[in-house]
Amino acid sequence: MLVGILILEGEPDRWLWVADSEGKYTVKSAYSVLQGEIPTDADFNYNNIWTTFATTSSNTFTWRALMDRIPCKLNLMRKNVINRIEEVTCPLCNEVEESTSHILFCCSKTWLVRACCYRWLGISTALPSEVMAHFSQHSGILSNKNQKQGLMTIWTAMAWSIWTCRNIVVFDGQGWDYERVFELAQLKSWNWIQAKSKEFTCSFYE
Ligand SMILES: [Zn+2]
Repeated sequence: MLVGILILEGEPDRWLWVADSEGKYTVKSAYSVLQGEIPTDADFNYNNIWTTFATTSSNTFTWRALMDRIPCKLNLMRKNVINRIEEVTCPLCNEVEESTSHILFCCSKTWLVRACCYRWLGISTALPSEVMAHFSQHSGILSNKNQKQGLMTIWTAMAWSIWTCRNIVVFDGQGWDYERVFELAQLKSWNWIQAKSKEFTCSFYE
């Protein structure tokens, strides 16, 4: 089933099997799809990833998150990069294992960043915790093409900023300051949108 075409700079052309996080087709995963165990989300529009105003590398991060391919601790354990169960704990809240959906949407520390963002945008909505459903819900909120591109750019900036600052906590030992993460996401959104959108004219401080 062809569900989308992804253009990645520096990567050779290849097929991706969306029912597997590595993109590899296996009889087992195909059987699971037929049994309804793995949601293929045939309606998911992958083009929405690549039509934001964000940079290619940031859009690539979104694609990797949607495919559950970012090196969060749970994924590192699956690849045997880390082996002890205590090493899988979320580095921000130290409460549960760090999965992709946890660090980006469910963690009590990163939720504060998103709460600031939704307050800023004036959005009040119940949001799914699964990555693909979360992205789809945002891409379906607006029908105006430019506004939709803007919102998905902010979604990308939010995810990128959370992951970047999470890495600073993990690798540089700095503390987590949700307000600074939110400000970084705001700044990134504004930079990306004003650089690429012809209809965007307001200053960062408006
Ligand atoms: Zn957490």
